Amino acid sequence: MVGDTKLNRKTRLLGEFEIIAGPCAVESVEQMELIGAFLNKLGIQTIRGGAFKPRTSPNSFQGLGMEGLRILKDIRDCYGFNVISEIMDPRDVERAYEYIDIYQIGSRNMQNYSLLMEVGRTDKPILLKRGMSATFEEWIRATEYIARGGNEHIILCERGIRTFESYTRNTLDLMSIPIIKKETKYPIFIDPSHGTGRRELILPATRAALTLGADGVMIEIHPQPDKALSDGKQSLNFREFELLLNDIKKLKQVIWGDGGSHHQ
Ligand code: PEP
Ligand code: MN
Repeated sequence: MVGDTKLNRKTRLLGEFEIIAGPCAVESVEQMELIGAFLNKLGIQTIRGGAFKPRTSPNSFQGLGMEGLRILKDIRDCYGFNVISEIMDPRDVERAYEYIDIYQIGSRNMQNYSLLMEVGRTDKPILLKRGMSATFEEWIRATEYIARGGNEHIILCERGIRTFESYTRNTLDLMSIPIIKKETKYPIFIDPSHGTGRRELILPATRAALTLGADGVMIEIHPQPDKALSDGKQSLNFREFELLLNDIKKLKQVIWGDGGSHHQ
């Protein structure tokens, strides 16, 4: 049923190299209006923005909650974007339903089985991030909890794993791309923002993701990254994001030929 929805055709999630972008967190109406207008101008179709934020410290900004979802919905209604946002609590799945188009399950909740089963009972796509210390086996088994509820519109997203390395926030395990392609039928996205934690590594990571055959990337952007309420260091500003898009467009032509399109 989900397979041939308008959303699926619009996002082309299984065809092209999809670029999802938006802020780590929805902070205000003004911030989202700026970002929405900018992404719309560039032809981006899916916008991200966290309303429920899983922060390490309870004293950090926790997101705007339902108010954040309302802001996202207004931007969606204005530009026709698909909206992706994280849900942390099974009790929020139902009330968030009308506000978002893709449920994001975050790294910290990859094995929250009640949450997985709850989203699995809906008919919206689910982006399941890899747990920061999850093996491929555990990640793939987690998809089965979602699928058990009848929802097989699952997108996997590699966001880096914990290693001894501290130069980067996480170690971006790009071998997820061939491994997930081989072991599952699901699309695989890369999150170079959380995967590296450093804005200067987002472009090389995105190039690598495209080259290795990922279905897309999800990138954090902010009009003023230095003022962001969360994850500013791994967010691109508008100019940097535009440069990345141009770079990736050229690389697509090199890889896929003239039209820069996977499917003729
Ligand atoms: C996010 O995408 O904003 C996020 C919190 O990511 P992760 O769950 O990968 O840490
Ligand atoms: Mn973030």
